[in-house]
Amino acid sequence: MKRTPRTLTAVALTATAGLLVSAAPAAAAERFTPGAPGAGDPYFPDMGNGGYDVAHYDIGLKYDPATKGVQAVTGIKARATQNLSRFNLDFLGPLTISALKVNGRTAAYKRTGAQELEITPPRGLRKNSRFTVTVAYAGVPQRIDDPALGTSGWIATGDGAVMVNQPFGAATVFPVNDHPTDKATYTFTLTAPEALTTLANGDFAGKHTKGGWTTSRWRMRQPMASELSMLAIGRYDVISGRTASGVPNITATDRGLNISPELARTFQKQTGDIQEFLASLFGRYPFSSTGGIAVKAGVGYALETQGRPVYDLARRPGTAPRPGLIAHEIAHQWYGDSVTPERWADIWLNEGFASYAEWLYAEKYEGKPVQQSFDETYATPADDDLWKPITADPGRDDLYHSAVYDRGAMTVHALRKAIGEEDFAELIKAWPTAHRDGNASTQDFIRFAEKISGKQLDDLFDKWVYTSGKPAL
Ligand SMILES: [Zn+2]
Repeated sequence: MKRTPRTLTAVALTATAGLLVSAAPAAAAERFTPGAPGAGDPYFPDMGNGGYDVAHYDIGLKYDPATKGVQAVTGIKARATQNLSRFNLDFLGPLTISALKVNGRTAAYKRTGAQELEITPPRGLRKNSRFTVTVAYAGVPQRIDDPALGTSGWIATGDGAVMVNQPFGAATVFPVNDHPTDKATYTFTLTAPEALTTLANGDFAGKHTKGGWTTSRWRMRQPMASELSMLAIGRYDVISGRTASGVPNITATDRGLNISPELARTFQKQTGDIQEFLASLFGRYPFSSTGGIAVKAGVGYALETQGRPVYDLARRPGTAPRPGLIAHEIAHQWYGDSVTPERWADIWLNEGFASYAEWLYAEKYEGKPVQQSFDETYATPADDDLWKPITADPGRDDLYHSAVYDRGAMTVHALRKAIGEEDFAELIKAWPTAHRDGNASTQDFIRFAEKISGKQLDDLFDKWVYTSGKPAL
């Protein structure tokens, strides 16, 4: 994510809730126990669930402008990781469930807390068995306005909606195991009146129109964290092409932003060119398609939604995304999307590298040396708020603090100086390759950097990411 520099207006908090207290297990389930109602992330105890691993989400969603609402069916393919008497999904807001089946049979469910959908299948699910969940539901999805973290989830726009889900929000639109550690592939089947365009993550897989409604399909074939799932519905101009190395590149611009055709083409070309530049540093681009969507959503940030970032330009109509911002969001495709932190506390691994990519971009295309970017940032006075949080554990409400971004980028540069050019070049390519489609922690990163460099790096990381205060050089 990259926020536009302006204080976000908080409206209301709808996403937090106490940890669900489970009811006693059913008597019939002696050897089968309930899955945990959270994934164990200290920042977001309700997010995610335990006891199963999702392999695929199949999201079928029809948007009706007359009601601003949706009719949807989400199918989930999962595997039990314990003997399950019941399990939870995250599902948030006013959508009403009309049917819920597990393995094709009607299952009991209840909604508890702010976001728990507790499902009891007719029979227990044996460890390692594969199972399906199908949930049919409808209503007007509600966005999340978090006082500290801003707006996410389903964002109604003038002519449709945009779904952006970091750190949470997916559960406002589909039932989900909403923690980055449970990555899955996705299929989106999106229906809207034919005058509207529907977009989502990944590869375009065809469309058809019937009776004035158009259905289009999108596929994300590489594992994706739910926070990176995205869809956009509205009046868009779409440009399809390929990057120099042949990756399909689909960009779209909301007509309400009045972006000229020339600027729209520039946006697409820069996306491809910057991606090629970053691939020369970080290794092969990790997904089977790319692009970007310029939206008029009013959320005040751009987000690295997998394979196709979203750029909110509501406050800058008539302009295309800045190339430095494109570099930030495309860098996330390696750092954040393909390799995703195990815990939200480690988000500096995303933002530090994405911010560093902005410095790399400035050096390559604007002649500003990375060292100069570092020096300017490091010159921030020692009593500035930048130096206060612990970069690798900033706290739930400071997930998007400058310590995560700017100090994160400075940490990357300090590491580069410590291990030298050759090892640094190897590291920034080897890390996303080694952890492609996976999750990793700050400790994993430190061990990896030590292995490549043969250097003991604990002191450096203690100083830069585990200690408050301005580090001495
Ligand atoms: Zn970012």
